Amino acid sequence: MSKLILLLFLGFLAYLLFKGLQRAAARRQGKAQPPAPPERMVACARCGVHLPESESLEGDAGGRFCSEEHRRLGAA
Ligand SMILES: [Zn+2]
Repeated sequence: MSKLILLLFLGFLAYLLFKGLQRAAARRQGKAQPPAPPERMVACARCGVHLPESESLEGDAGGRFCSEEHRRLGAA
């Protein structure tokens, strides 16, 4: 009977160890993936308004613009 209790106890210990390792691995993974950096802001070459780079339009002669109209007008 005592062997059965010992076996259960060992099983419980193994379970705790397994859960602890899983938690540690999850923590490590969380640290390895920092949150995405904030997006770069660019200024419109025409009016100077700041907007995220992904929302800006690139001019034919370079530069970044806030709208199609300002892109057409070109840099100020
Ligand atoms: Zn603009």
